[in-house]
Amino acid sequence: MNEYRLFIDGKWVASSSGKKSISYNPYSGDSFAVIHSGSESDINTAIESSHRAFKNWSKSLPQVREDVFINAARIIEESNEELLRILIEESGSTHVKAGFELYMTSSCLKGMAGECRRIGGQTFISESEGVRSYSIRQPLGVVAAISPFNFPLLLAVRKIGWAIAAGNCVVLKPSEVTPVIALKLAEILKHAGLPDGVLNVVPAEAEDIGDSLVGHPKVKKITFTGSTSVGRRIAKKSAGLLKKFTLELGGKNPLIVLKDADVDYAVDVAAFSNFIHQGQVCMTGSRIIVEKELYDEFCAKLTEKVKLLKVGDPRDPEVIIGPLIRPSQIEFIKQLVEQSVASGAKLLIGGESSGNCFHPTVLSDVTPLMPVFCDECFGPVAAVIKAENHEHALELANDSEYGLTAAVITNDLQKSYEIAEALQTGMVHINGPTIRDEAVVPFGGVKDSGFGREGGQFAIEGFTELKWITVQLGQQKFPF
Ligand code: NAD
Repeated sequence: MNEYRLFIDGKWVASSSGKKSISYNPYSGDSFAVIHSGSESDINTAIESSHRAFKNWSKSLPQVREDVFINAARIIEESNEELLRILIEESGSTHVKAGFELYMTSSCLKGMAGECRRIGGQTFISESEGVRSYSIRQPLGVVAAISPFNFPLLLAVRKIGWAIAAGNCVVLKPSEVTPVIALKLAEILKHAGLPDGVLNVVPAEAEDIGDSLVGHPKVKKITFTGSTSVGRRIAKKSAGLLKKFTLELGGKNPLIVLKDADVDYAVDVAAFSNFIHQGQVCMTGSRIIVEKELYDEFCAKLTEKVKLLKVGDPRDPEVIIGPLIRPSQIEFIKQLVEQSVASGAKLLIGGESSGNCFHPTVLSDVTPLMPVFCDECFGPVAAVIKAENHEHALELANDSEYGLTAAVITNDLQKSYEIAEALQTGMVHINGPTIRDEAVVPFGGVKDSGFGREGGQFAIEGFTELKWITVQLGQQKFPF
């Protein structure tokens, strides 16, 4: 079994406390790797390393930064096979999901390369005679990045890449269940030419280092992707210290199907939006709201489609539903389904598990009072809700604490625009799945799904401080 150390100051170092943990293959339950687990002292060393590196990196030329991202994208494309294997074995990714993640990761890195030359300010017309007035964007300093388990490579890249492109240096704490792929990313970026200290990666138990990472005085911003409950805790701590933070949190995303939709297409959209990565995606479209005229046909056809989804070992390229990340998730999802059925939902298919795989599940007759309507379940469970008309569909869609993404399937142009603009979410996709990601778009949510936007210029804005500068030509006249 491979053993992985911390990546600090460009070197692979042992944890100062000697603590190690084991990561497990979520399908087989076998040990996958031994990981050195960082302590508060390791976090402090990593932050000091990033702080030192900031002096030069913040002044590095755009083409130097750009080269690093282009090289990293190329290395990722060349190492596809090895990375695919890690994504499958460490995070239970199916081939489809791992392939999508690898494609998106290199695409994101290319988007980051493109952004390096576009960091700029504005000029302003001054109210004062002889004054030239303009703004510049400057990097913040050391950024703490905390990433989740579900897209452990892509989201680690998105946590660190925009910050680095803007001239910051980063300490990354990856999810404790998927640290190996994050350490691979460090290796790739080192080979791509990233100077020592610009990125440090410290796998650790959250309770050992979470507060010291967020609270360290040299950390100027926290960028977090993960659950709403942990995000809230990080927001509290950061706000108390007047630190900047960006939060990409959970979702319970609505997928609206209007009565004029092509049902077969709507079923394909719903299946993809619910079952890729066995529902462990923040953008999962797990509240499917269908107008009553199409409801029965939609439920029947979705059930038929779900019967075809192969469940099992993600090493098999035909498998669509692999394991959940932790066995405890099986119990949580089972309860969610059972409670919803006890409150009147109808189980159309699924509801059972084999090993660590929860079978794809469809519940109909779901109402807003049921847990499956309200709670993020992070598993392969689709809830289908009947809407009286399109206004009711919109009302149901907005009846959520979350507001990450949404989709509407219709050929009615007028309604699609009206609904897209009225949905209380950060993103809306018309005639596409709720799950959509691109490198340079304003990705992010509203309400309990977080705030701040990640992608392109919107991410650069979040990782820079705007400074106003004036130049007086000639001499200013004073009243005394
Ligand atoms: P999680 O919140 O359990 O963990 C996320 C990260 O936070 C991990 O690295 C974890 O170790 C760390 N962490 C936990 N407690 C901490 C603390 N007190 N201080 C500092 N760090 C701490 O989330 P998860 O289970 O890894 O991921 C699933 C969640 O992430 C879901 O809610 C999902 O919707 C969300 N997510 C959101 C997006 C998005 O872009 N909006 C993307 C992916 C996942």
